Amino acid sequence: MSVWFVDDERRFGTEQKMIHDTWGLVREQLAARIGKNNYTTWIEPLKLSDLKDGVAHFEVPTSFFGNWVSRNYSDHILSQMNSSGIEAGRLEFFVARAVEHEPKPVARPAAKPVARASDDLPGSPLDARFTFDSFVVGKPNELAHAAARRVAEGGPVNFNPLFLYGGVGLGKTHLMHAIAHELQARQPHLRVLYLSAEQFMYRFVQALRERQIMDFKEIFRSVDVLMVDDVQFIAGKDSTQEEFFHTFNVLVDQNKQIVISADRAPGEIKDLEDRIKSRLQCGLVVDLHPTDYELRLGILQTKAEYYRSQYKGLQMASGVLEFLAHRITTNVRVLEGALTRLFAFASLVGREITLELTQDCLADILRASDRKLTIEEIQRKVAEHYNIRLADMIGPKRLRNIARPRQVAMYLAKQLTLRSLPEIGRRFGGRDHTTIMHGVKRIEELMSTDSQLSDDVTLLRRLLQG
Ligand code: ADP
Ligand code: MG
Repeated sequence: MSVWFVDDERRFGTEQKMIHDTWGLVREQLAARIGKNNYTTWIEPLKLSDLKDGVAHFEVPTSFFGNWVSRNYSDHILSQMNSSGIEAGRLEFFVARAVEHEPKPVARPAAKPVARASDDLPGSPLDARFTFDSFVVGKPNELAHAAARRVAEGGPVNFNPLFLYGGVGLGKTHLMHAIAHELQARQPHLRVLYLSAEQFMYRFVQALRERQIMDFKEIFRSVDVLMVDDVQFIAGKDSTQEEFFHTFNVLVDQNKQIVISADRAPGEIKDLEDRIKSRLQCGLVVDLHPTDYELRLGILQTKAEYYRSQYKGLQMASGVLEFLAHRITTNVRVLEGALTRLFAFASLVGREITLELTQDCLADILRASDRKLTIEEIQRKVAEHYNIRLADMIGPKRLRNIARPRQVAMYLAKQLTLRSLPEIGRRFGGRDHTTIMHGVKRIEELMSTDSQLSDDVTLLRRLLQG
């Protein structure tokens, strides 16, 4: 079992680790089996805690959630686990206690569902619902959408790669699948390969282990369009990066289209080799901004329409969608999950979806989105980003390399919290409100001339709003 991971991830005991790795695969298989939507809503949030005496323990967000999964998906989960070699006879669900330490990052990041995109290509499966038709366009994503459309037309390769980035759940994967669907519909002869960076690594390691590296190279270099999702995953994984880099270069040289996604801009991905960063920056880099209210409402309306057709006869009071668009500002996946659960719950109890029912059923999600950002969190993140000490944020030092980050933190505190200037001043070591005002203004001015600073602020804002 020594070569499963080329890279150092030795945090867990081998056996638990194997179980968790296998659970990663089980999840992929489940996704293919029960559909992406159900998967995202019910399986993805499950955290496999441990396996003892044939009982697999899962952490779930609420007891309603646990009951639902237990009732509807136990059999699927068990049979898939067993056929993948995890010997479990029973599942148990428990609700996590609030604010304890995060459980260790056990399972690998959400695995993409697997199926064949093009028969002989080792791609991840495409979700049939992730099309351009079902993608709601708004201000925050219009550029990304336009660029994706352009690539999907399959004309001459104008920009290579297309690099899409943005926070979790903002539609990167959706757009990539949409490109693949469209290309395959328009030009069925094209060899389009879509896969997650995680799958890329997995295939690569498998090829190494089975001594089929030449086949691997051949396959990856024979495609017309290569799409790699969540490329930040290979950061720090040296041999995988190396292989990715070569594949990338060969394809670009042959003028084949490449589409990449990541959770941040190429330059911001830590532990990614510089030569890869600079190649990624060569094409068109577009970001998906956090959603705004209008976009969220648009998405909710589209999905609600779909659910109304699924759950016939279910009534929804007016104002519910507006309430959700207003309250759940994190990401679209959470928003969708909320709606899915809401409809499932309402149909289960046979009641109209009212505001009250919504608040009951979604209490945990609403609470999580409610979390208010504190000034201290902002100071800490900014200090971390600029590599200065937290104490210097509030201290008296006036050196530029400290004063500037401090002003960034002031600016973000003003933007992201409801605190008044005097209140902010107090938390910055008792500074006067005019000092804060000056700091905020200074950053506003600089952002229009200093693109590095403006990128920093955008990134920090995104990290803080997570
Ligand atoms: P990412 O890959 O950026 O983390 P996804 O593409 O997986 O996000 O999107 C998460 C969920 O939100 C998906 O179910 C997707 O269909 C939905 N979604 C995101 N943006 C939009 C949009 N603009 N219109 C419709 N659905 C969207
Ligand atoms: Mg994604």
